[in-house]
Amino acid sequence: MPTERLYYRDCQLIEFSARVIAHAAYGGRTAIVLDRTAFYPTSGGQPFDTGRLGDATVVDVVEGVEGILHVLEGPVPKVGTTVAGAIDQERRVDHTQQHTGQHVLSQAFERIGDFTTLSFHLGADASTIDLDTPILDPAAVRQAEEVANQIVLEDRPILIHFTDAQDVERFGLRKPAQKAGVPRTGEIRIVEVAGFDSSACGGTHVSRTGQIGPIKVRRWERRGTVSRVEFLCGWRALRDYAGRAETTRALAERLSVADVDLLATVNRSLDDLERLRDDVSRLREQILEAEAARLVDRGQPLKNLPSGRLVQQVYVGRSPDELKRLALTLVRTGPCVALLGSSGARCHVVFAQSTGLPFDMNQLLRQVAPLFGGRGGGSRDLAQGGAPNPGPVDTALTEAVRLLQAG
Ligand SMILES: [Zn+2]
Repeated sequence: MPTERLYYRDCQLIEFSARVIAHAAYGGRTAIVLDRTAFYPTSGGQPFDTGRLGDATVVDVVEGVEGILHVLEGPVPKVGTTVAGAIDQERRVDHTQQHTGQHVLSQAFERIGDFTTLSFHLGADASTIDLDTPILDPAAVRQAEEVANQIVLEDRPILIHFTDAQDVERFGLRKPAQKAGVPRTGEIRIVEVAGFDSSACGGTHVSRTGQIGPIKVRRWERRGTVSRVEFLCGWRALRDYAGRAETTRALAERLSVADVDLLATVNRSLDDLERLRDDVSRLREQILEAEAARLVDRGQPLKNLPSGRLVQQVYVGRSPDELKRLALTLVRTGPCVALLGSSGARCHVVFAQSTGLPFDMNQLLRQVAPLFGGRGGGSRDLAQGGAPNPGPVDTALTEAVRLLQAG
């Protein structure tokens, strides 16, 4: 015996009593089947209702071959007993707002652009419909929103009709019944937003469009050949608006501008930031060049190459990247070997020579790296190394100078 769906005729019913007709297992948990229920099972893009059955909590509701399965946590009522059911009203109201809003929005898209809704998903955060168009321009979305909200403001009744396959034609359905996911009971349930939209639907709905509250499209995007439209209705839309208003207020306060000037101010600030980054990068380059010139002045002559310079310098806490850039700047100034190191919590060394000099930085680094407990390598002209702990970098560099000048 299939479960009688009380929500088919009365979506506002949240308290009911029913008889337990069977127990079942679902996903390793116990479920019960009732002779009738007001609990909506997950289907048609809409999630299940939660609530209580007797002293147990209803944690999932699904369609099963035995009827509608109510998955329980807590004491399971015995087969044959009568149990009191109570639907979580806040969740039910939220779902009916999103779902009925979807009917209205889908019809609005039909009216303004002949866009057909291919699917609907009611999510925990927002809901989506997929429209049969890859392109959706902002003006069309605004227009559909206006049509939908006009229907809300007219507070039209939501009517429920029951019909069959022979009679269904006269309702002028937005979507053919066989595609609407209605259980094959022989009876077809039509949900009509009076004078605006008729759909075959098994879901739960508000009783008048005014109860949907605001309908707001939040964003949309192309998904292959369709457009996915994300929207919010009722309390969700209002809470989302409150969150955005607060973000806007806080941003405007932070930037000391009026709300309407936010975008221009942010754009200007980002442009300024880009220019400043360029300036900083150029200044850093100049500082490195000045620093390199000073180091070269103080450098010692290279053995067998008196015009060349050997620069040996240890810093504290200088980054590997900066050390490398300084070394490369040094070797560009003229024939030069740069042996740079940084000590501190970690050790870094960079060995570089000007192109054409006869030494081997890779070999030299491998020779001295054990002196500070590190490792590294590179090419003949540029080698880098380090150790994840403090070490005598100056000792290693002094040894590198000795090897180089002795060679
Ligand atoms: Zn529906």
